[in-house]
Amino acid sequence: MQHPTLNDLIDYDRRELSPQQDALVYAHLLECASCIRIHERETRLIGALRSRLAAEERDLPGAVSLALLDRIAAPSPWWHRFTRPVVALPTAAALIAALLLGSGYLHHPKSPQLDASYFMQDHNALTHTTPFQSDAAVPAELASDTSGDAQP
Ligand SMILES: [Zn+2]
Repeated sequence: MQHPTLNDLIDYDRRELSPQQDALVYAHLLECASCIRIHERETRLIGALRSRLAAEERDLPGAVSLALLDRIAAPSPWWHRFTRPVVALPTAAALIAALLLGSGYLHHPKSPQLDASYFMQDHNALTHTTPFQSDAAVPAELASDTSGDAQP
């Protein structure tokens, strides 16, 4: 057999070769010193990379990672859905509108109504007066209640 390629040696190490290819590489490694060196060098390199990767994965303690994953996966309480802006703003607007309508804030207070007869009596009283005349009689409608007793 020819010397296996580097990819063949890596696949051999990973046990990803077909049984025939695996047997050929195994038989070649038993008798070829240069391929044994290449295979050992690659095996050391892969081992170093794996240990380095494992060390970097330990930066975040597993308990913290698991706690975070549990927290993410846990269903949030029912009231949390109302804290999302998409839901919170229309809900707040609806609540404010309901409160305003319920409190009567938007209802105009009833304006005082004047009876039409008031205007008729007022007009009638004014037409019977003569302004700027000294002895002009003051109609009873325009006289105050207290002045009736004190007339000369
Ligand atoms: Zn070889």
